[in-house]
Amino acid sequence: MKIETLAITSTTLHDEKRAVIPPIYLTTTYERKEDGTFDKDDYIYNRLDNPNRRMLEKSLAVMERGDDAFAFASGLAAAAAVFQTLRAGDHVILPDDAYYGVMVLAEDIFKDFGLQCTRVNQTDLQKVAAAITPQTRLIWVETPSNPLLKIVDIYALAKLAHQTNALCAVDNTWGTPILQNPLALGADIAMHSTTKYFGGHSDLLGGALVIKKNPILSEKLRKIQKIGGAVPSPFDCWLVARGIRTMPLRVKAQTATASKLAKFLATHSAIQTVHYPFLPTHPHHEIAQKQMQGAGAMLSIEVKGGREAAMKLANSLQLFVHATSLGGVESLIEHRKSIEGEFSQTPESLLRVSVGLEHPTDLIADFKRALKKL
Ligand SMILES: *Cc1c(COP(=O)(O)O)cnc(C)c1O
Repeated sequence: MKIETLAITSTTLHDEKRAVIPPIYLTTTYERKEDGTFDKDDYIYNRLDNPNRRMLEKSLAVMERGDDAFAFASGLAAAAAVFQTLRAGDHVILPDDAYYGVMVLAEDIFKDFGLQCTRVNQTDLQKVAAAITPQTRLIWVETPSNPLLKIVDIYALAKLAHQTNALCAVDNTWGTPILQNPLALGADIAMHSTTKYFGGHSDLLGGALVIKKNPILSEKLRKIQKIGGAVPSPFDCWLVARGIRTMPLRVKAQTATASKLAKFLATHSAIQTVHYPFLPTHPHHEIAQKQMQGAGAMLSIEVKGGREAAMKLANSLQLFVHATSLGGVESLIEHRKSIEGEFSQTPESLLRVSVGLEHPTDLIADFKRALKKL
């Protein structure tokens, strides 16, 4: 079945009350049988499992074409769970421009537990190969990357990981399962901040891991999820499932608009550079076209005139709200340097754009008008 159909069939059900859309189970605990026991698939306690989370996890596995899925309270809780499967002395390879929170997890929080970490520019496969040590157990991949939309070769990186007995995990938040399937490209784990395109409406926080058949990894992750307790509430699970039903259509429409906007901005004299994976000027557009069905709804631009011009543009736009986050129905724009702090390598002139569901004509007109004021 196609992804649009799976998005519906995996998130609707016919329960004993014949509800087509699942209700939200706002209960902490579940009654035992008369003899005090539970059957295998019975619910016991909300943190361990609940009907909304079980349904969401089934859908996550279907959407990402995996075998097992784990819902978390946030994208970073999902990422942290992957690091928690490792042991002191294990070595991780991270991209040099990994999502800021993932970098802090690996290089600060888990470092104190003995995790070793090397950051590498993963567009250079030889550098990745050179960074591998006998202790390497995980290659963490993020593509497209934030905020420069660098593209790395998932297939090649997964192959490198497997040659050395390591797993390959891909942060697929920006790619979405609609445009990119890391597991089909050889990766072992697909990670998502479901806060973004899965939820799709900027009204929740959530995370997910989807894996291929791997009983040992599955058991570890399930334990970390249930006992670590960084789980989403039934209501948040319900909201993510609601978002999934329209995700294929949203992502396709937002991608089509982003692609039009990227083309327009690439020709504008006030813009220095447009970072968008399918533009022929993008340094990795060939890999992007090989592994993605669309370039996505995120882009970033470097504005001529540095920080001042970038800030002025962000504030002159009327349809793009100056705020962090991405993947919602509303378009957002953000000056990344000022949120990323002192270790940021992001240019001062860079603005990151999350393209929403507004009409492309209106979004382009908004940019035209705002760019005139520079
Ligand atoms: C937002 C985001 C995260 C973190 O997810 P949260 O839900 O905010 O914890 C991780 N990776 C990427 C690429 C993101 O965009």
